[in-house]
This record gives sequence, structure tokens and C-alpha cells, in this order.
Amino acid sequence: MPFMTTAKTATTELSEICDAIHARRRFLISSHARPDGDSIGSQLAMAYALEALGKDVRIVNADPAPEHYMEFPGADRIEVARSVERTDVDALIVMESGDLTRTGVTGLEGRFTINIDHHQGNTRYGSLNWVDESAAACGEMVFDLVEALGVPLTIEIATHVYLAILTDTGSFHYANITPKTFEICRRTVEAGVNPGAMARRVFDQNSFGKLRLIGALLAEMDLLDGGRLAAMYLNDDIMNATGTTYNDTEGLINLPLTAREIQAVVFFKLGADGDIHVSMRSKYDVDVRSIAARHGGGGHKNAAGFKVKGPLTAVRDGILEELGDAISVGVQTRP
Ligand code: 5GP
Ligand code: MN
Repeated sequence: MPFMTTAKTATTELSEICDAIHARRRFLISSHARPDGDSIGSQLAMAYALEALGKDVRIVNADPAPEHYMEFPGADRIEVARSVERTDVDALIVMESGDLTRTGVTGLEGRFTINIDHHQGNTRYGSLNWVDESAAACGEMVFDLVEALGVPLTIEIATHVYLAILTDTGSFHYANITPKTFEICRRTVEAGVNPGAMARRVFDQNSFGKLRLIGALLAEMDLLDGGRLAAMYLNDDIMNATGTTYNDTEGLINLPLTAREIQAVVFFKLGADGDIHVSMRSKYDVDVRSIAARHGGGGHKNAAGFKVKGPLTAVRDGILEELGDAISVGVQTRP
């Protein structure tokens, strides 16, 4: 049965990418550092599709997948490395990365590169570039590509496409969801994905340490702007006290958003090197991507981030002010 919306998205880019894939044999896949569910799902769905076509595939990421994704099919084959040698590959496929440095992997430069992404501000660094800002997840684009390549939707591919969409829509919370999102999910469920089990596997994986971390972060949380803005702070002391690691922080930024009044959340994560990773989330029309972009980062309207040099006190107030402004503008159009 044809997938009705495919015709509209079967862009020139998509067919050029299909031709380039069919004409090549050895592929290296990478994605952004600190990979999330969309990066892991998109990469593994792509890897299974390429292997169904008889291709050789390597996946290299700068950081390991979050622990609870390691049980997903193929996750154990992802190589973790900060650099790759100029080994013999015919094409590099980079997903989810606005520019090549976002991978955190050196040695990727100068290869035939297929750039597949859904972030605004992608620098189009590839030999072929397919950037669809309307896609709720990069995994939606991979779904189209798998279909355009004529590869059947196996349970492994369907599982990874669903993982990508489930996580990148914030468990179907964000404004990026379209009818196509559900159409793709419908197809993955038809292929054998169990949404209830997937939700448990992705979201109900807390360790007791992580529960303690949640308690500690929420206890230290600042509420600002009359309760419309929350700020959370992570440092080594909190992680040591709760027996957790940086990976345990995934998803925690969403907790304050569950309060009705909260319109935006900022999470300052202090690294040992003095860098601060600033993560932001928002509701409805509150635009945090513009703030991230002003500081050299990126993302989406409701989920964005950037890195900045500390100390925290020097950057904190300015960012909180920018968030306060974004909330004032955003709530005016709130549904
Ligand atoms: P997170 O807050 O989960 O790290 O990231 C949220 C969104 O912002 C993701 O789409 C992510 O790719 C983007 N993002 C986070 N940090 C950076 C950054 O340093 N640079 C860019 N370009 N995007 C980022
Ligand atoms: Mn994504």
C-alpha cells in the first residue's frame, strides 16, 4: 500500500540521496555528540536499511548512547571514538547535526557526505544536503528514505523510527507533531512496534540514583518570573552525592514543564572543564531556539541548547533575562 504523503516529500534531494546510496557500498554513519533517542534511532534505522541493501556500515559517535538505549537492536555495534582515520568508506552519512563539528568526531572532513537533518540553521556542509525543518524527528526523514530505497519496514527499522519520534516529540508533547508523524507511527505499529512497551523502555528506566538526582535538582531549582520560568543546576557534587553520571540527566529538563504555570525551563550543566552546557525547553510559542542561536548554539523553538564558558554567575543572569523576554513575547499568542 503506498504511503500517501511520500509523494509530496519525495524531493529532488531524496532521490539524489537514493541514487548516491545505490551507487556506493561502504558507509560511515555519525550523529551529534551526546546522542539522544533521535540520533540513535535514526542512525540504527539507517544502518539496518543499508545492510538490507547489502552495504557495509560502520556507526561512529563521539559519546556512548544513553544506557537504556543499549538494549535496542544494534546499539551495541555503535563505535565510540573522537576521531576516525581516513579508512576506506565511499560515503559518510551525518544525521541530526547542523554542522560537521557537532559530531565531536574528527577525521570526517573531505569525504562524500550525505547530510540529513531537521534543525534550523543547518550549514549544508554535505555533498548532498537534505534538511527538512518541518520533520518532527530526523527519524521521520529516515522513514521516507527507507521507503524510497525500497527497503521493507522490518521490526528493527520500525523500532528505531518509533524511538526517534517518541523521544524527539517529547513523548508527543511538542508543537512539531503533524498528521505525518502519526501516519509514520501507525506504519511502525503495523510492523510490530508496541507503543506501551516502548514508552516503558524509554521513559521508565530510572535508577534509584536518578530518582535521588531528580530530588536534589528539584530541591535546588529556582522559580522565577512569577513562576513562569524554572532554572536547574547540575554540577559534579550533585552527581557524586547521588551516584549518577551526566547521562542520567537526559530528560530531566522536562520535569519542571509539568507544572501548569511554567512556560520555560533552563538547565545549566556545569562540566569539569569549566564549560556550561545550557539546555532550554519551552511551551507553545515561547521561542528558545533564538536564544540558543544568539549564543552560537541551535535546536528547535521548544528545545534548544548551547555551550558557554563559565563561571555560571557571569552567564546566568543574562540568559534568565532573555528567557523572561521570550516568555513575555510567546505567551501573547498562547492557545
Ligand atoms: P539538549 O538541550 O537536549 O541538549 O538539546 C536540545 C536541542 O538543542 C537539540 O535539538 C540539540 O541538537 C540542540 N542543541 C543542544 N546543544 C546545542 C549546541 O551546543 N549547538 C547546537 N547547534 N545545537 C544544540
Ligand atoms: Mn532530532
